[in-house]
Amino acid sequence: MVMSKMYDVIVIGGGPVGCYTAYQLAEAGFDVALFEEDEEIGKKVVCTGVIGTQAFREFFLPQQAIICEVKSITFFSPSSLTLRYTSSKAIAYVVDRSILDKGIAKLAREKGAEIQLGQQVRKIKIGQDKVEVEMDKGDREKAKVAILSTGVNYSLHSQIGLDTPPSFVQGVQTEVQIENSKEPEIYLGNSISPGSFTWIVPLNENRARIGNLTKRKGILYLRRFLERLNERLREKQTQISYKPVAYGAAKKCVAHRVLSVGEAAGQVKTTTGGGIFYGLIGSRIAAQVLIKAFHRGDLTKESLAEYDKIWKDRLEREINMGCRVREILEKMSDKGIDRIFKWLQRVGSARDLIQKEVNFDFHSKVISLGMKLLRKFIQ
Ligand SMILES: Cc1cc2nc3c(=O)[nH]c(=O)nc-3n(C[C@H](O)[C@H](O)[C@H](O)COP(=O)(O)OP(=O)(O)OC[C@H]3O[C@@H](n4cnc5c(N)ncnc54)[C@H](O)[C@@H]3O)c2cc1C
Repeated sequence: MVMSKMYDVIVIGGGPVGCYTAYQLAEAGFDVALFEEDEEIGKKVVCTGVIGTQAFREFFLPQQAIICEVKSITFFSPSSLTLRYTSSKAIAYVVDRSILDKGIAKLAREKGAEIQLGQQVRKIKIGQDKVEVEMDKGDREKAKVAILSTGVNYSLHSQIGLDTPPSFVQGVQTEVQIENSKEPEIYLGNSISPGSFTWIVPLNENRARIGNLTKRKGILYLRRFLERLNERLREKQTQISYKPVAYGAAKKCVAHRVLSVGEAAGQVKTTTGGGIFYGLIGSRIAAQVLIKAFHRGDLTKESLAEYDKIWKDRLEREINMGCRVREILEKMSDKGIDRIFKWLQRVGSARDLIQKEVNFDFHSKVISLGMKLLRKFIQ
C-alpha cells in the first residue's frame, strides 16, 4: 500500500466534466490529480455527441472534435406529419466524444493536472482537514478537496452523504450506415418513444447515430424503430449500446470538502438528455466557488454551499421544466400529438413565435410559450 503526497484537489472521473474541472483548477495554480477507472479517456462513451454552439463559445473546447454542424431539424409526428426548424447559422455541432474527452484531458495535463488512468476509486473518507480516497488496487491518495465527476456511477455518493439524482431514464443508441441522412430527424409517438422522442443524427450522408431516451424498454423501442427504417438502412445487424441518464437535479451536491459535478450531480437537460453543456456550466461554477473557498482558507460545507445555490439558480428551472414537459408528453395520445403538428402547420404565426424563442440549450421559455399558445388553441 502506497501513501502519497497531499494534493489540493482530487477529481474522481475523467469524462468531459471531470477533465474540464481539473483543467480549470490546474490553470488556477492548484495541485490537481484526476483518477479515471478506464485505461483510456473517452473509450467507453455512449453518447450522440450533439453539443450546442453556445458551449463552444462559452468554454475552451477542442474544435478538432467537431464532425459536422446542425442547422436544421425535421420533426415527425406519429402519423408522419412534419415540421422543420431551420436556422441560417449552426445551432449545434455533432462531435466525436473520444476526441472531445481526450482533448479536454490534454488541456488539463498541459496546465499541470496529473491524470492517472486505470484507477478506480472504491472508497472515500472525509476527515476534518483532508479527504482520503482508496483505489481498487489498494493505493490511497489524499487531498484538501475531492470532486465527484463519476457520471452515472453513484457508488461513492452515499459514503459521504451526497445525494444522487432523483430518477433516471434509459439512453440507447446505435450507429448505422443509412441512406439519405441529411439533417437530424426527431420522431414522436407512443409506439416510437413514449413520453420522449427517437433521434437520427447524421454524421455524414450515409452514417448516423440513432437512439432514444425512455423510462423503460428503450432497446425494444429502438429495435422496432430500426425495423420501420428498414428500407433506408444499409446494415441490418447493429450493436445497440445502453446507458442510464440522470433525470433531475440531485438535492445536495456539497459536503465538507467535497462537491459533485456533471451527471454525478444531475446536471443534464431533462428534455433531451444532453449533459455536456450543463455539466460544463456546473464545472465552471464549482471551480469558481472552490477557488474562492481556497483563498478564504475555508473548505467547510458552509463555505462551499454557494455552489449548490448558484448552479441551481442557473439550471434547476430548466431541469424541472423538462420533466414537466415529458410528463405531459407521456399522457398525450398519438392523435393529440398529431393535432399539435396540424395546428403548427396551419398557424404560421404560432410557428414563427415558437421558432423565435427556440434556444438549443435552454428550453423553458419556448416550453412556457408553447403551453400558453396551446391553451388558447384548446379553448
Ligand atoms: C444514448 C445517449 C446519448 C447521449 N447524447 C448526448 C448528446 O448528444 N449531447 C450531450 O450533451 N449529452 C448526451 N448524453 C449524455 C452525456 O453523455 C453525459 O451527460 C455526459 O457524458 C456526462 O459527462 P460527465 O463527465 O458528467 O460523466 P461521464 O462522461 O459519464 O464521465 C464519468 C467518468 O467517470 C469515470 N468513473 C466513474 N466512477 C469512477 C470511479 N469510482 N473511479 C474512477 N473513475 C470513475 C467513468 O469511467 C467515466 O469516464 C447522452 C447519453 C446517452 C446515454
